[in-house]
Amino acid sequence: MNWEVVMGLEVHAELSTKSKIFCGCSTEFGGEPNTHVCPGCTGEPGVLPMLNKAVVEYAMRLGLTLDCDITRVNTFDRKNYFYPDLPKAWQTTQLYAPVCRNGSVGGIRLHQIHMEEDAGKLVHAPNGSAAYMDYNRSGTPLLEIVTKPDFRTTEQVLDFLETLRETLLYLDICDCKMQEGSLRCDVNLSVRPLGQAEFGTRTEMKNLNSFKAIARAIEYESKRHIDVITRGGQITQETRRWDDNKGKSMPMRNKENAQDYRYFPCPDVPPVIIDDAWLEQVRATLPELAAQKRERYIGEHGIAPKDAATITVHKTISVLFERLVELTGQPKEAANLITGELMRHLNNTGTLPEDLQVDAGKLAELINLVLAGKINRAAYKQTMHAVFGEDVQPMAYIEQNGLLMDDNSDAVAAAIAAALAANPKAIADYRGGNEKTFGFIMGQVMKELKGQGNPALVKPALEAALADC
Ligand code: ADP
Ligand code: ZN
Ligand code: MG
Repeated sequence: MNWEVVMGLEVHAELSTKSKIFCGCSTEFGGEPNTHVCPGCTGEPGVLPMLNKAVVEYAMRLGLTLDCDITRVNTFDRKNYFYPDLPKAWQTTQLYAPVCRNGSVGGIRLHQIHMEEDAGKLVHAPNGSAAYMDYNRSGTPLLEIVTKPDFRTTEQVLDFLETLRETLLYLDICDCKMQEGSLRCDVNLSVRPLGQAEFGTRTEMKNLNSFKAIARAIEYESKRHIDVITRGGQITQETRRWDDNKGKSMPMRNKENAQDYRYFPCPDVPPVIIDDAWLEQVRATLPELAAQKRERYIGEHGIAPKDAATITVHKTISVLFERLVELTGQPKEAANLITGELMRHLNNTGTLPEDLQVDAGKLAELINLVLAGKINRAAYKQTMHAVFGEDVQPMAYIEQNGLLMDDNSDAVAAAIAAALAANPKAIADYRGGNEKTFGFIMGQVMKELKGQGNPALVKPALEAALADC
């Protein structure tokens, strides 16, 4: 029998607002445990929430970009449950009026996007003897993006996540660091015999911390479903935890339903009205996205499509590219620098594009130096890597390492004389009409100059010398 896999995603994006969703505490990742907290974060009685306006605007940015219907009267609800990471015993979320409905990403339909708060983090002692609570993450704003069950293949899931990630990054609303949990994805999965109209029973997988884990988990879980059903069993609707070390999913809890959470409208957060003026104001601030940038780089700057794709692979890289173009007016040089030496640097050092720290002004200075013939290509690359690695001052580094090209005409004349004296045969060939030998003789002169010769000076001088001899 042929089986079809059906999947829907629930993606949580932690927003990069400075402060939390309902209080002024910092959202910064990785602080000392319980230092970014206030009585509101930990749900002490009598503290009222105050909604962060930026959270609503971030949701509007994403919704407008993904062609969603934006809800004009937004309300918040309480999802009630007890767990140590949620001392209030409810999560403030949106059940009845999510901020965005419908919309799509690359053909996959969205069900909704809603705003909610994150919970704290439970930290287990390595030997299992204790569990500690860190409430720094409590109240960090999240957007939950829920798709329709439109996925049929792993590739579609990964493409969707890649596009969503790119969109969140370019909109500047989430840093999308899966390893820090700022982008988390739960996969709902069921299988059905190919051709059957109804969906099968689904399970939901959590704790998927990388694209690779997602691919492995889908593979494992779909096989498990098919196995159970083929052997005459039934799939239990439940939440399962993916264990990436064991390569297995394990039951975590029975799939709860909305009734279990006793949802009710939150009496403490008043409705938020999004009027036309606010919506248009946010629409006007939407930045250019990766796909639009690629088109512009190709059309406006004549960059090859493959290179345009490399440059837009991460927002920090395209920002660097645009800055270099601005400073040098040389888009092709800037593109070559990025697709060549910069990518080599990232690969060699295992640096993620988002962690790249480089001074665009110094790289622009290097481009200007090589184009003006002050340094040759080898010196250009060497200095560039010193800028990437040690953030050196280009001119100081070039001078200290003797990389400045020799503009001294006496030295050039001496090098030409030496090269001519050492290569009588090549000169005879050249004078006999074999113009290709010119490159060879030129190479000999440059060798005499130890690679520091300035071709713009050497070439005419050599031509003149050859015409004379
Ligand atoms: P609940 O209300 O129980 O959370 P939803 O209808 O909101 O369930 O769906 C949650 C997620 O599960 C959505 O991403 C949806 O696309 C997906 N989903 C729903 N039914 C199935 C199914 N039979 N197989 C796979 N995914 C499904
Ligand atoms: Zn707080
Ligand atoms: Mg749901």
